[in-house]
Amino acid sequence: MRRIFVFLATFALAAAMGSAQNKPSKSLDIYFIDTEGGHATLYVAPTGESLLMDTGNPGGRDTDRIMAAIQAAGVKQIDHLILTHYHVDHVGGLEELAKRIPILHFIDHGPTSEPREQVAGFQKMYAEMYGKVKHTVAKPGDKIPFDGITVAVVTSNGEVLKTPLPGGGKPNPACADFKPRDESHVDPDNPMSVGVVFTYGKFRTINLGDFTWNKEQELMCPNNQIGTVDLYLTSHHGIDQSGSAALVHALQPRVAVMHNGAYKGGAVQTMQVLHTSPGLQDIWQLHWAYAAGLEYNSPALFIANLDDNATIANVLLNPPPTFGQGPRPAGPPPGAVPAAGAPATPPPAGRAGFPGRGRGGHTGPAFWIKVSAEADGSFTVTNTRNNFSKTYAARK
Ligand SMILES: [Zn+2]
Repeated sequence: MRRIFVFLATFALAAAMGSAQNKPSKSLDIYFIDTEGGHATLYVAPTGESLLMDTGNPGGRDTDRIMAAIQAAGVKQIDHLILTHYHVDHVGGLEELAKRIPILHFIDHGPTSEPREQVAGFQKMYAEMYGKVKHTVAKPGDKIPFDGITVAVVTSNGEVLKTPLPGGGKPNPACADFKPRDESHVDPDNPMSVGVVFTYGKFRTINLGDFTWNKEQELMCPNNQIGTVDLYLTSHHGIDQSGSAALVHALQPRVAVMHNGAYKGGAVQTMQVLHTSPGLQDIWQLHWAYAAGLEYNSPALFIANLDDNATIANVLLNPPPTFGQGPRPAGPPPGAVPAAGAPATPPPAGRAGFPGRGRGGHTGPAFWIKVSAEADGSFTVTNTRNNFSKTYAARK
């Protein structure tokens, strides 16, 4: 009798939750999906409600990978989609994704700041898409409704959080050594990125999209409005246009996940900031990063996608002339800082000797990094390539 009652109560609860899908665990699950240096991260609340940040590149490859993670998570619809900004490596996969799964709520920073669209016709297509459902223009200080999780908007449209989050508001000593950059050549939509902090009980994680170096100072100095996080998704794919010590050392993450590609991100400077960050235990990477070389890549155990040994050896012995740059086939973004020791010219498209591994990455199977976070602040990170898992205890 009691069992029947529990069953009925569970059934009623599941029905009442409406948008949420069944999910037995009580964890916030995060899927960092490999989009070869683009961005797509899926957050699944304990109730099964889903929030996706960005949709990777166009062409279907990244959409296949996103859908694989969505299916593994048991998610049937995207309850909230945050587009951090309008660059092709973030929104290029939207049109294809929307054909494959319902998307119920779109969140962005407002109109694009790019003079030219990177995805032709995107704004028109996007406005038609969000016009049929719910659309929110995020502002710092807003909270995005997400079952049991506080999702605080901390950056959007070039504005930053002015009122500290709980645990934030203290002076940030890492500001003393901050050196501003000339960002006049940075693609204008990067600093517009919607950035959010997720809080689930005592667990906190941050995702700032491609928010840039000088804006990090605005957000974090003189006072750290955010406080600390447990898990830091490296801003801007681990490119050294972002990821200053003023940001990272103040957040004091225990673990970093880098959504780099083989030829994008993993910049030496980014790695150095991470390795000197107080309390950082591990850096997990979505890819082996050629820019990081033998010195700065994490042990392969922590890397979800590797090139084969022969390719790695070949590239290390005959390095392509540029590393750590953006996704454009024609070369680095104007004003990009080349990795230490790297000459400034880009490799020719389809460079011989690196079959299937151009700057757009490979098309075969790819692995994601999964994080399961508990309300007590503990979390487990899993590399789905080798099933290596590591659990990080709650902070004392
Ligand atoms: Zn990007």
